[in-house]
Amino acid sequence: MENAAASRLAEVRANIARMCKPARREASSVTLIAVSKTHQAKAIQPLIDAGQRVFGENRVQEAEGKWPALKAAHPDIELHLIGQLQSNKAEEAVALFDYIHSLDRPSLLAALAKAMDKAGRHVPCFVQVNIGDEPQKGGCPIAELPGFLAQVRATGIPLAGLMCIPPADTEAAPFFALLAKLAADNGVTGLSMGMSGDYETAVMLGATHVRVGTALFGPRG
Ligand SMILES: *Cc1c(COP(=O)(O)O)cnc(C)c1O
Repeated sequence: MENAAASRLAEVRANIARMCKPARREASSVTLIAVSKTHQAKAIQPLIDAGQRVFGENRVQEAEGKWPALKAAHPDIELHLIGQLQSNKAEEAVALFDYIHSLDRPSLLAALAKAMDKAGRHVPCFVQVNIGDEPQKGGCPIAELPGFLAQVRATGIPLAGLMCIPPADTEAAPFFALLAKLAADNGVTGLSMGMSGDYETAVMLGATHVRVGTALFGPRG
């Protein structure tokens, strides 16, 4: 088990480094977020033991069940919220997470700004973009992005970058390229894009943060 986790981690890291080369990037410019949603602490521990320190969860409540103890044991762990966030969970999210990837609407911005002021803790946020213009998905519509980024900057919340989840079952590269262009056009540097099936493509197209679950933990139950 432990060895399997360590070797999967080494493989994903090697793939990232390999894709950085043609793009003339340092491997250290890509943060690997190990997405541990649905996995219990005993499945997470081998990755921690193998040196992984950056993890992602998609639900606040699930993360509250397992991460406070793991973070207490390893204070250098960095926890990223990658899933949709309801405004009424903003305080819990700000208390537990070190980064939030799903800031996508003014009501959530207001809730997060208030929660951060109250906690005295300024959690950097990625603005999620609805890159495939899919009605069922979260994310700021592309047309509204410049205005929303201006609102985010006006509140003083640290802006970490842009995030996207491309439409399923289609080539992701054009969507990654579009997110990179939107970031450049809007003076944003971070790019949270790429999952197990397409993180190598994402790195080639400029991802600074890849969110990888299955390739590290195996299939979710
Ligand atoms: C689950 C999830 C991932 C990781 O997906 P894998 O295909 O298991 O790598 C990445 N990003 C988000 C937003 C997710 O919910």
